[in-house]
Amino acid sequence: MQTKYKLLFIVAVMLLALGIATTINVGLNFREYSINSAKEKAIMVAAVVKDGLTAHMVNGIMNKRQYFLDQISLNNEPVKALWIVRSKNVIKQYGKGFKNESVRDAIDKEVLSTGKTISKITEDTHNIFLRMTIPYKATVTNNGAKCLSCHDVNAGDTLGAVSMKFDMTNIRSDGLFTMLKIIGLNLLFIIVVLYLINKYITPYMNLFSNMQIGIKKAYSGDFTHEFETSVQGDGKQIALEMNELFKKMQSTFGDIKFNLATFIPQGLQDTKDPLQEAKNIIKELSDIYKFKKTIELDTSKDTVYGRIVDVLTQKYELENFSFYEIDIHSDTRKLIYISQGTSICHDYVDDKASLCRAHRTKTDVISTEFVDVCQECVANDLNYVCLPFSINDDNALVISITTKNISEVNTINQILPSIKNYLEAAKPVIESRILMAKLRDTSLRDGMTKLYNRRFLEEFIDTVMKQVSRTNETYSIMMLDIDFFKMVNDTYGHDVGDRVIVALAKIFHETIRESDLAIRYGGEEFVIMLHNADENGAQMVAQKIHDAFGALKFTVEGGQVMQKTISIGIAKFPTDGDTVWKTIKFADTALYVAKTTGRDKIVQYTSEMSENDGLR
Ligand code: GH3
Ligand code: MG
Ligand code: MG
Repeated sequence: MQTKYKLLFIVAVMLLALGIATTINVGLNFREYSINSAKEKAIMVAAVVKDGLTAHMVNGIMNKRQYFLDQISLNNEPVKALWIVRSKNVIKQYGKGFKNESVRDAIDKEVLSTGKTISKITEDTHNIFLRMTIPYKATVTNNGAKCLSCHDVNAGDTLGAVSMKFDMTNIRSDGLFTMLKIIGLNLLFIIVVLYLINKYITPYMNLFSNMQIGIKKAYSGDFTHEFETSVQGDGKQIALEMNELFKKMQSTFGDIKFNLATFIPQGLQDTKDPLQEAKNIIKELSDIYKFKKTIELDTSKDTVYGRIVDVLTQKYELENFSFYEIDIHSDTRKLIYISQGTSICHDYVDDKASLCRAHRTKTDVISTEFVDVCQECVANDLNYVCLPFSINDDNALVISITTKNISEVNTINQILPSIKNYLEAAKPVIESRILMAKLRDTSLRDGMTKLYNRRFLEEFIDTVMKQVSRTNETYSIMMLDIDFFKMVNDTYGHDVGDRVIVALAKIFHETIRESDLAIRYGGEEFVIMLHNADENGAQMVAQKIHDAFGALKFTVEGGQVMQKTISIGIAKFPTDGDTVWKTIKFADTALYVAKTTGRDKIVQYTSEMSENDGLR
């Protein structure tokens, strides 16, 4: 039952109970009052009769008494019967009297014998009567008349009695009518009160239920509810403030959700609950962050692949899936992991990866979308969801999830965006590990110094740079050349020259970070690319190399000690040169300046160096 109707019902019951109690009370009092007033009237009539009879007796017209008694009956409407009876003493003295003056019933008899008044109510559904019999006692004086002077009795003896029958039917009807009027008025009062209450509280109750609906919606994260009310004053104020609050909540949670969503490439399930969604996104972000932090410290792509498999089996509890790596150039596919059994694809797909529908079309392939959607699938009794993912121009991944249960396809579909978020997080790490693996290739390194060779620079600089421009990374490029090196060869021989070169390379290894690249550019010329180093950082590294090399002491033939110096030119990519080659050229220009202005120094490239031919 609605709260409003409950309230109205309670008020109605209370008022009705009050009305009934009042009516019963009034009814009972009215009856009591009617009987008492009838009794009083009877006593009065009895007194009149007594006085009248005494007067008749004193005046010697006792034989005319019936006329007097009849007149009393006739003139008093409710008196339906009136008679007198004589006591034994009076009968003894004056005889039995008129016929109608003899004892009529047990009441007459009892009153005469006890001398006490008796009254009795007799009623049925139609009529109500008061029967009253009042005794007359012999008194010494009765309004001046002396009873004992005429009656041969003692004072206090019962002389007779007057009996009356009062019709109270009209009084009862009046009482009932009055009660009906009271009931009617009560009902009218109840109706008016209920109407007023209803009218007054309905807007409050509407606001109340409106608030209930709004709060219920808010509980499930929907703050779009508009509170409306016809109540003025405080009620209106509450509705307005709730609207303000809800608007704020909606926009705040919406903004939080929106801002958080920008951190993950694939949206999560829309739950219509911004709070819940924000919570989901934060959880997803935190999980992905932890995942990323972990894989960043992994040194090989296979370890990263292993982590992805762990996420699929542990977080998403996938039981059946296979994970492939595709080499785009050779169009081959390699199985990295399979949970059990064999691949659901034809064997020849491994040798012709472009047959894989997911990889070729770069779209998710879901077996329930069309009969036999992938022509290369051999498992007819399984449902599959194949998810392609591109790493770079050379490599791609495919995850193929299978299930016997068709209803699970939907569940798998729902987690695909989240899996893609993980793959997206892993992508730069996989890319960099692939690159690192390639960089470890010996054909790209100089045998004597183990530094990268010029071929490396030529082959891979473009690949590295693509990654750099995507991620807004920078490089400080150093060009280094040993001063007067020819002299070493000429004076101490080639072997000593080689020792000097190897010693310098060792300094590079010890000074630069793993993300930096050191390349043997020419005979005793080197290029060092410092990853994300600013001018100060580059200067510091250069200084360190310069000082360390200058401090080296080479013992040569005859126990002589030889020391060498180095000149360094530095330019920044992409601020000085917009390509790596240009920047290397500018670093060379700076090196030239160092060489021509005294050697044994570090020179930072400035654009004037290119303009000023005199310096070149
Ligand atoms: P500068 O200060 O102007 O650089 O004078 P420099 O004598 O060092 O002149 P330059 O840089 O032109 O000298 C290069 C010399 O380095 C020429 C070459 O004989 C020598 N060289 C190049 N590769 C090797 C190598 O692998 N081992 C040895 N021992 N010498 C090398
Ligand atoms: Mg030199
Ligand atoms: Mg040189």
